[in-house]
Amino acid sequence: MFDIKRECSLLFDEAVALRRDFHRHPELGFREVRTSGIVAEKLRECGLEVTMGVNKTGVVGLLRGPQPGKTVLLRADMDALPVSEENDCDYRSEVDGVMHACGHDAHTAMLLMAAKILSKHRDGISGNIKFVFQPSEEYATGGAQGMISEGVMENPHVDAVFGQHVWSSVPFGKIGVRPGPLMASPDAFTITIRGKGGHGSAPHLGTDALVIGAHVVLALQTLVSREIDPLNPAVVSIGTFTSGTVMNAIPSQASMTGTIRLVDPVLRKEMPNKIERIVKGVCEAFRGEYSFEYIHEYPPTINDPQMTELAKQAAEEVVGEGNVIDPGITMSAEDFSYFLQEAPGSFLFLGIANPDKGIDKNNHHPQFDIDEDALPLGIELLVRIALKYLNS
Ligand SMILES: [Zn+2]
Ligand SMILES: [Zn+2]
Repeated sequence: MFDIKRECSLLFDEAVALRRDFHRHPELGFREVRTSGIVAEKLRECGLEVTMGVNKTGVVGLLRGPQPGKTVLLRADMDALPVSEENDCDYRSEVDGVMHACGHDAHTAMLLMAAKILSKHRDGISGNIKFVFQPSEEYATGGAQGMISEGVMENPHVDAVFGQHVWSSVPFGKIGVRPGPLMASPDAFTITIRGKGGHGSAPHLGTDALVIGAHVVLALQTLVSREIDPLNPAVVSIGTFTSGTVMNAIPSQASMTGTIRLVDPVLRKEMPNKIERIVKGVCEAFRGEYSFEYIHEYPPTINDPQMTELAKQAAEEVVGEGNVIDPGITMSAEDFSYFLQEAPGSFLFLGIANPDKGIDKNNHHPQFDIDEDALPLGIELLVRIALKYLNS
């Protein structure tokens, strides 16, 4: 076996340069034309079989080892966010209103460097490695699902999937590893209440949709506080409420939208009925009518225990046993969950926060940044996972 740690640290300058180049030129979901072009070029330089245009701007590099074996998929996402960068650094975004505020620039750079090392040592590899560069993680439809429907899990068939995210709540030098639920499903809903409008001085002649809507908002709070197991993470947040046009009229309509965050697939199936039952009950009580729509977004990100154990061993080799931590469940979402529905695998959090260097902002913050010293660790993590999976 070659000296993995040394080879990863030798690529530090290249990884930083690549990440900063992507950072200067961020592209929104499904518009990663420049980024995917560079990715494809770098993968070809590694001598890999490259497929472009997988779900629009997605790129896949395939490494076939000389000996037959299993196939492991490593995934990075490439898209940026519609955020105006507020960092004052020389690699600051050069595109107004677009920024790599979630660190996907680092994901792409690290996976490219991992591809470089693994292809250099392909002679020792049994099986195949698919390097998947996914478009558009940040937008609701997501890039993962489309790559799967266009066949990324086949030819050769993928047996295991791994991905990592640079994570602001994990300090530099640590890696967050968690079997089971890691991230939530971010489902959405819309409720419209209809009553009967009229003069504000004569409420008895109308049906006040605003008052019914207010009761619905309050009644929905009891789902989490009174109905769902307190040990089963769940969030119901109503983000918009619109009703009425003038102070002296009874509103005939009230509409609201919200987000539902869950990690339990069974509860997720029950959730639309639970919400509708409350809306229906309140509307009946107060003589209103309603329409209700529940929109399923990404599934929860649930790590396979066995694959997570493998990833944990790899992480321990990278940062030492004491630096592999359980990051807990976060109620944000990731469409890597679609890959995890197709094959066992694990999604990991790479620590990048370093308050001593002023790097302390959350993902999506306009001053988000990463401690770039974490890049070799992330590269090493990917390399070790792939080798451990294929050669064990
Ligand atoms: Zn994000
Ligand atoms: Zn992200």
